[in-house]
Amino acid sequence: MRLANQDLLKNQNYIGGEWRDGASAIEVRDPANGELLARVADGSAADAKSAVAAASAAFPAWKSKTAAERAAVLKRWHQLILENADDLARILTLEQGKPLAEAKGEIAYGASYIEWYAEECRRAYGQTIPTHNPAMRLSTIRQPVGVVTCITPWNFPNAMITRKAAPALAAGCTVVIKPAMETPLSALALCALAEQAGLPAGTINMVVGSDAPGIGKVLTQDARVAKFTFTGSTAVGKLLMAQCASGVKKMSMELGGNAPFIVFDDAHLDTAVSACVATKMRNAGQTCVSANRIYVHEAMHDAFVEKLRAAITELKVGHGCDEGVTVGPLIHRRAAERVNDLVQDAIAAGARVELGGDFLSHGENYFAPTLITGVRDEMRIAQEEIFGPLAPVQKFSDEAEVIRRANDTPYGLAAYVMSENIRRANRVVEALDYGMVACNAGVFSTTVAPFGGCKESGIGREGGVEGMAEFYETKYCCFGV
Ligand code: NAD
Repeated sequence: MRLANQDLLKNQNYIGGEWRDGASAIEVRDPANGELLARVADGSAADAKSAVAAASAAFPAWKSKTAAERAAVLKRWHQLILENADDLARILTLEQGKPLAEAKGEIAYGASYIEWYAEECRRAYGQTIPTHNPAMRLSTIRQPVGVVTCITPWNFPNAMITRKAAPALAAGCTVVIKPAMETPLSALALCALAEQAGLPAGTINMVVGSDAPGIGKVLTQDARVAKFTFTGSTAVGKLLMAQCASGVKKMSMELGGNAPFIVFDDAHLDTAVSACVATKMRNAGQTCVSANRIYVHEAMHDAFVEKLRAAITELKVGHGCDEGVTVGPLIHRRAAERVNDLVQDAIAAGARVELGGDFLSHGENYFAPTLITGVRDEMRIAQEEIFGPLAPVQKFSDEAEVIRRANDTPYGLAAYVMSENIRRANRVVEALDYGMVACNAGVFSTTVAPFGGCKESGIGREGGVEGMAEFYETKYCCFGV
């Protein structure tokens, strides 16, 4: 891989300020063509133990720094990421597949968490509480929780790390990160820049490893760990929550979704179509907030489907580094096969493929951007998280009915409402059982607002002031006078 700054390409784990080899190696491949990009040290559960020990040893000194001192280091890290943004985006596209423009967007978005939390940590205010007893004085202080461990997915290999590590480090915690095995190069490049920025040895540690269950046990159960934070599937999240229970670890879970996208008959058609394409086809549909069930009012259905078909036809599929490409490959063959299974299941149950619906000849991980109509709630396509470039459309006829159907899922991450009627928009936004609702918008995630879900989509929030609170312990102090 050719980069302007070749020092960003790391193939060892980063533990206690040292780059360490593993007993064996993990192959990192370009999902677009299977090309071998790198071999990265395969870290073990023992490496995870060393990383937790290093983070624990580094914690007292890091938490004792002033907020301004921690902020200065984090701002250097942020600056270095911006200076290396083109290289970081190239690494990301090559190992993950998303188009280069999206990768650049992710690098800027990921970096923005570091800048924002570097500023926010200066405001870790406590309270003075009006006392209940004249002989006592009451107050609270906020202190970092301690060692934080993180497990992150491959779909946003940069931002899912900074969204956790930035507030944790800013609060005065030290971190151990296990990135996804598919995308370790983006993660290790972030560590290389953290080291260059001057984050002290042990404050940030990274262990890439194929033994996810073994490493996961250490990160959820080691007695020195105070908090565990996870982004990934609901199934793995449940397992890790159970592991956290034995030590009563604090935890945050950003899990899967099954987002409804509701188009009312009073929606602005072009706004609804462009929002739908943005949320559905970004990252080839591999985002947790991707529209998963598109409900269109029967009066709007045919016009919406026609415009959506035209918009999807304009997408350009190919290698993410090629000019003009808007949809890349899926992460691996298994993912493409899963999307195909969902299409076949829907066809067998009576749905109709309007566009796409098959693998593409570009490479074995490609699936065509697909539009399906005649979908019903009981089909697998509407019950499961699709995680692919597949837009399934269903009809509805009234507001109460669509709210009931939209909420009828164990998930509760993101939902979308398209309506120009402000009264209806308010009513429906309030009635949806989701952690986040976007009205007349398709892309909404930002550093300054709380991201997260309810029900089986997770616990806790990332971003905004809520995202920082996750890494503080509030201590109540009572003084007799
Ligand atoms: P995944 O759960 O398979 O993997 C996520 C991470 O967990 C990876 O690092 C993996 O190595 C690790 N892992 C897997 N099994 C493990 C185990 N037994 N013990 C410890 N670690 C283990 O998910 P994925 O396929 O990589 O990512 C896609 C999922 O992530 C989707 O469900 C998506 O909705 C979700 N996601 C959620 C958010 C959010 O903010 N809510 C954001 C992005 C992705």
